[in-house]
Amino acid sequence: MPELNPFKIAQKQLDTAAATLGLDEPTHQLLRWPQRELQVTFPVRMDDGSVRIFHGYRVHYNGARGPTKGGLRWHPDETIDTVRALSAWMTWKTAVVDLPLGGAKGGVTCNPKELSTAEKERLARAYIRAVGRFLSETQDVPAPDVYTTPEIMAWMMDEYETIIGQHSPGVITGKPIPLGGSAGRGDATARGGIYVTREAAKKLGLDLKGKATAIQGFGNAGQHAALLGSEILGLKVVAVSDSQGGVYNAKGLDPKALVDYKQKTGSLSGFPGAENISNEKLLELDVMVLFPAALENMITDKNAERIKAKIVCELANGPTTPEADAVLYKNKVFVIPDFLANAGGVTVSYFEQVQNAYNYYWNLELVYSRLDEKMTKGFHDVYTMHERHSVNMREAAYLVSVSRVAEACKLRGWV
Ligand code: NAD
Repeated sequence: MPELNPFKIAQKQLDTAAATLGLDEPTHQLLRWPQRELQVTFPVRMDDGSVRIFHGYRVHYNGARGPTKGGLRWHPDETIDTVRALSAWMTWKTAVVDLPLGGAKGGVTCNPKELSTAEKERLARAYIRAVGRFLSETQDVPAPDVYTTPEIMAWMMDEYETIIGQHSPGVITGKPIPLGGSAGRGDATARGGIYVTREAAKKLGLDLKGKATAIQGFGNAGQHAALLGSEILGLKVVAVSDSQGGVYNAKGLDPKALVDYKQKTGSLSGFPGAENISNEKLLELDVMVLFPAALENMITDKNAERIKAKIVCELANGPTTPEADAVLYKNKVFVIPDFLANAGGVTVSYFEQVQNAYNYYWNLELVYSRLDEKMTKGFHDVYTMHERHSVNMREAAYLVSVSRVAEACKLRGWV
């Protein structure tokens, strides 16, 4: 039975990297655990006048490289162990693209689909009153994640500023642009993935122009991957899918028309000039680049042998199981691992913090060029490690990140 506790998985991944790096025991043990955790229980008044009690979390995994950073999830299945695991992965993600930040994560166990807008606002403000002392622009900076939005970030920032009696927009990122959000945050995750795909193609000697791509998941990450894959790399989008299934045309689909159609009808089904395709078949198409951009555990030991893509760019978190990883590596499918491939989002969140700190804002071109610089450098650092240690790109990314965080802990004299 494979391990299902996400925190235990995160610890195991670290253990493997620590062994390859020959990390000393105190450093290894320090990096196996969050430095600090806060669990809170707080009341929120509902629209009908009743009071409900909610449980929330904020975990600072490691702050050796800078203020900790990571999103807030509002989800019925949120537990301290998911938050711990995600905070560990944020630590490795900020380190792989060399941001001067640590990793954190937070959340509230709740079902936002059952809450009115007014209830969400009261929940957001109550959460900040409960964890506010754990946050600041120099200590820990949250951002949106599953089921949290720029609107929720705005309420949280306002509550925080009300408590401290000062402006402090850098305490949270993913804000609406008029409140200090960064230009370019909307498509940053996909854009970062497109930049590293471009670099991978160069290393592999592949010409992407006019070549086929398939995208699983057609939300924020997937839609922008379709648009930018075609605009920046010249890829031909042959298939896209969402939770209800996908559409396919070997001659190519117009990404802009797909986005408009999905927006108008809420689905991809019936898109003109395309045939239906299942999510399973989409993954197995003969394409140059495959973008998993939906959920975790989509490429498994059941289908890995049938993946024909030359490059898999993991925009989703955890789309490939460890068993499938081994098969893809053996079959020479080049996987750009999630915490490198989707680091564009946190990178532009970091740019937002920087702009907030000096209260002066960048244009889109500047955001794009600095994002490109960070992602390209991150890719090549990982690629070098992949060649040096003859390991797959995921293990190589761990080696880069863990060695950076370990070095910072040592320089501080902690271990
Ligand atoms: P989203 O909610 O906007 O979109 C998710 C999409 O996946 C939807 O189109 C949904 O229909 C589809 N989907 C759900 N189940 C599916 C299934 N079984 N098969 C195919 N499609 C399915 O979410 P998003 O923000 O685009 O995030 C997608 C992935 O990218 C997640 O793993 C997320 O953690 C990761 N990610 C996103 C960001 C970001 O900035 N948006 C940053 C880092 C990582």
